[in-house]
Amino acid sequence: MGSTIQFKESNEASADFLRKAVPLMVGRKIPPTPNNYALWYAHVTAEHPDLSESLLATFPTPESYSHEKSDQLFFEHFIKQHLPENDKSQSAIVALLSQLLGVVNENVNSTHDYGDALKDTMITLQSSNDQEEINIALTSLLDQTQQMETKSREFQTDLLQSRQEVETLKEALEASQKDALVDELTQIDNRRAFDQTITKALANPLQVTVLLLLDLDHFKRCNDTYGHVMGDKILQQVGKILTEFRKDDVHVSRYGGEEFAVVINDTLDNAVNIAESIRDKVSRFRITQSETNTSLGSITVSVGIAKARAKESVKALKERADKALYQAKENGRNQVYVSDTRY
Ligand code: GH3
Ligand code: MG
Ligand code: MG
Repeated sequence: MGSTIQFKESNEASADFLRKAVPLMVGRKIPPTPNNYALWYAHVTAEHPDLSESLLATFPTPESYSHEKSDQLFFEHFIKQHLPENDKSQSAIVALLSQLLGVVNENVNSTHDYGDALKDTMITLQSSNDQEEINIALTSLLDQTQQMETKSREFQTDLLQSRQEVETLKEALEASQKDALVDELTQIDNRRAFDQTITKALANPLQVTVLLLLDLDHFKRCNDTYGHVMGDKILQQVGKILTEFRKDDVHVSRYGGEEFAVVINDTLDNAVNIAESIRDKVSRFRITQSETNTSLGSITVSVGIAKARAKESVKALKERADKALYQAKENGRNQVYVSDTRY
């Protein structure tokens, strides 16, 4: 995922960026739509090199503009990172940008009026010897300057308010993005987060990646014996045990159902030790009846391990870990099996 575009500048800096963006857009004949405005604003902040590069490459000359290309860039750099399937957030962003555009246009127009007034006064001062006429011209210029100041202050306030709204929206979007990566029952990473983690890990050839696939033993029987609600509680407990192993280089997730996955960026030996500790901890956990505090039984887990080979695909690595897991089950469950080696 690319870096999320966010506007964090101070009020003054924002106004400066606005003033820089508009002439660039005018020079390239970019229509002042909310999307375009957002793209060029982000460009002049010089904080989004990817966006700047594609923006300048897509619109090198005034003739190169097209609505489709612009929409595509806006989608890539703004919308895509904010839950592409969420129509409501998209229209909220667009509404806010429209508001921002209104403010900008007003500012640009008033600058234009002010420039005209200045020009008129200069002409009067140059061509007139009449003191009265000069006084009127100067008074009118002063008046225009005051108006300009007021407008500019209003502009700053509007801008600040818009930016705060954008920030709030962004926080809400980030929170829902986070929800989309967390498993509701166990509150650890879900399958989607796991896929991102393993893809990222394998993309880095400099680090060792070991994949652990865990599957609870006879969990169907467990559900049948204690009931589905208790089954859910057991899954939560396993999730809790896994979080105790979470570190910078140990990513735990619920792969689906009663299966979990752990991605470890460490040596195979260390990964096997972690797997053994998890297996041991799960087996020592007692399923208890909370009212009577009596122990009902216990649960075990089987673990399949595969260490990624050079340039191995996610699919191939998963398949090997899955085969190892199958071997652990075949060999009697409650054990760890590494690719083709039994531990
Ligand atoms: P094995 O040792 O071979 O893995 O046997 P198993 O019974 O665990 O395997 P199987 O795949 O046949 O059954 C998995 C069971 O896990 C079946 C399903 O009801 C249960 N399960 C999957 N997801 C959930 C869940 O979210 N909550 C509960 N309570 N049970 C679940
Ligand atoms: Mg299973
Ligand atoms: Mg199972």
